[in-house]
Amino acid sequence: MKKWKLRLAVGLMLLLPVALISTTTSAQAASKAATTAKAKPKKQYLIIMGHGAGDPGARGNGTNEATFLRKNLLPQLKKYSKEVKNSQITFYNPKHNIVKDTLVHHKGSYKINKHTTVIMFHLDAPNGKGGHVIIHKKHPTKRDKRLAKVIKKYVGLNRAYRGGYSFRTNLRNCNVLRKRGIDYSLVEMGFITNKSNYKHLKKNMAKIAKADIEAITNEKIK
Ligand SMILES: [Zn+2]
Repeated sequence: MKKWKLRLAVGLMLLLPVALISTTTSAQAASKAATTAKAKPKKQYLIIMGHGAGDPGARGNGTNEATFLRKNLLPQLKKYSKEVKNSQITFYNPKHNIVKDTLVHHKGSYKINKHTTVIMFHLDAPNGKGGHVIIHKKHPTKRDKRLAKVIKKYVGLNRAYRGGYSFRTNLRNCNVLRKRGIDYSLVEMGFITNKSNYKHLKKNMAKIAKADIEAITNEKIK
């Protein structure tokens, strides 16, 4: 080995640890910064309008469940969902039907992250009045209780269900989530067939949507 080559080799060997140390340090700093930024991840929610994609759901008062929810409720929920700070709310494609997507195409709830909480909105039929919450576990969660309060305030609770809750394990639209261990609440907003329920829903849609977003996230909107 020529003398200058030897010097170069020795010089590089001496520099190598320095380079390694500085790389490690900057990598550690970067990962620490990332951890700090991720310290408070937003709680994830997915909101689904019931039925759709050719399934109208229940009919009443000149409309049907799928259309009423998408036309009246969805835009208001979207509006207020932007005003919460600690929650990330996304909406299931309103052109789709999650039950069909899941059972027929093996998509739908297969694509939902297990840490996401799902909130489904529906309207009841044919005979009765008032709304209720179909719950995931045997006993209502705090979120279920807040959602029932909103129903009680604007439409009234369905007396057929004690406290406004119903625990069911025989509903397809819940079981597509239940089978994947995904947390959910299903809100039956009231009867689409009942004139008074329908009138109250239409009249208070913005207030209901705002209160529902607050109930879901447990955050206050100004
Ligand atoms: Zn329905």
